[in-house]
Amino acid sequence: MAYEYDTENVFAKILRGEIPNDTVLETDHSLAFNDIGPQAPVHVLVIPKGPYVNWDHFVTEANAAEITDYTRAIHAVIEKLGLEPGTGGQGYRLIMNAGEAGVQEVPHLHAHILSGRPLGKLVAAP
Ligand code: AMP
Repeated sequence: MAYEYDTENVFAKILRGEIPNDTVLETDHSLAFNDIGPQAPVHVLVIPKGPYVNWDHFVTEANAAEITDYTRAIHAVIEKLGLEPGTGGQGYRLIMNAGEAGVQEVPHLHAHILSGRPLGKLVAAP
């Protein structure tokens, strides 16, 4: 599968420093920042710094260092915010939207970390 990456998407602009962001955590290959339109008291987005459209693009084309960094960066945000269940944290929901059915709006891979209240059922009724 050949993926076309839109270099003008909003997260590419954040990574180039053209748009500000409210950074939560930054690593060599990843950036986490607060969502501009939070859907819960905690709503953080975690993105790889590389130009990947979605999860499928990332896992098939990113190198091992990027994949390790990204997956651990997601965990590092969860740990930093004290959300990890089993360590006293209240838990969280981790979401990656992709394509039409997933209703992905920004075409740069991002994981949503949501928490801070009971989040209800996994998917809203149509
Ligand atoms: P998705 O529907 O999974 O593509 O989610 C895109 C998310 O990006 C939404 O939750 C938006 O609120 C969020 N978003 C869009 N622009 C920005 C921005 N400039 N800074 C932070 N979050 C943003």
